[in-house]
Amino acid sequence: MKTAAAVLYEYNTPLVIENLDLDAPRQGEVLVEMKAAGICHSDLSVLTGVFRMPPLPCVPGHEGAGIVREVGPGVEKVKPGDHVLILWVPACGVCYYCRHGQPYLCQLRDQTRGGVMLDGTHRLTKGSQKIFNMVGVGTFNRFNVVSQNSILPIEPDIPFEIAALTGCGVMTGVGAVLNTAKVKPGDSVVIIGSGGVGINVIQGAVLAGATKIIAVDLLDNKLALAKRFGATHTINPGKENLQEKVLEITKGIGADYAFDVVGSPKLVESALDLIRRGGKVVMVGMGPADQKLNIPMAPMLVMEKSLLGCYYGSSNLSTDLTTLLDLYKIGRLNLDGLITARYSLEDINQGFADLVSGKNLRGVVNM
Ligand SMILES: [Zn+2]
Ligand SMILES: [Zn+2]
Repeated sequence: MKTAAAVLYEYNTPLVIENLDLDAPRQGEVLVEMKAAGICHSDLSVLTGVFRMPPLPCVPGHEGAGIVREVGPGVEKVKPGDHVLILWVPACGVCYYCRHGQPYLCQLRDQTRGGVMLDGTHRLTKGSQKIFNMVGVGTFNRFNVVSQNSILPIEPDIPFEIAALTGCGVMTGVGAVLNTAKVKPGDSVVIIGSGGVGINVIQGAVLAGATKIIAVDLLDNKLALAKRFGATHTINPGKENLQEKVLEITKGIGADYAFDVVGSPKLVESALDLIRRGGKVVMVGMGPADQKLNIPMAPMLVMEKSLLGCYYGSSNLSTDLTTLLDLYKIGRLNLDGLITARYSLEDINQGFADLVSGKNLRGVVNM
């Protein structure tokens, strides 16, 4: 069949809306009619070549939701008509990590990093040219063939755009607080970067009962939003001394936790000066793969500080994502307020321009 998708042919050039040929789903795969896809900073990193995967040409996009239209042989998880959200890490359910409650580290993820299906082949072509797809899901695509390991069934009353965002930024942000850091009631947290993921770290801190939620950003409009999502304090380090302010708010002790949501070595290093003795820094944002940290060893040991990596919110994908959608339904998570702009697939380049200018908390492509 044919599908319309946004294709990246060269780094730092606009996406091209193309009519592509799409093969039918094979063993363990499903055809999904995509309804919504989120525009995430990780997609921007693919467009600019900061992330050199998948190979080009490719269809970027890793957040999305839609309706199953066809299932391949051996698919029992869903049937045509079911609503699903896309998981950007496929979870097999049987490897060491899946069996130990860490499906976000599933061994299958190494197979989709190359922008191919789990069996190593492609489903998308333009003439004789094979088209790769980001982490095996490339969601900027009206019809999409994905592995059943890369989807989660959702209830039909969940809006597609809400499901799309929950599948990445919401899970990552809230999971960083609840799963990676395990913040407790009364704790103090600093969040460096109050964008699409940072706002969800703030929402996670509210859920956890943190009483000092300190949002940090260079943009005052982001700090105003942070307040609306539950930040108790805000700091603009372009105008104030970050470390002094954090120490003042925490009565000279330092914060229990600091989250770097930007993905910059300098910020991770400075975050270690914001936490108390025994405090923890959580790395949520990801920059270029070759970046290195420069950390003095002794204070880490003597002050017993810890540095934690956080991937996909350290989440048990199926149960945790379902919980987040339930929290949304009962009004405990503000997900509607995350969406600041909507685009058609044809206007997707405008969506990325608005992400770069800092205008959007989250832009969504309605397919
Ligand atoms: Zn994302
Ligand atoms: Zn697995």
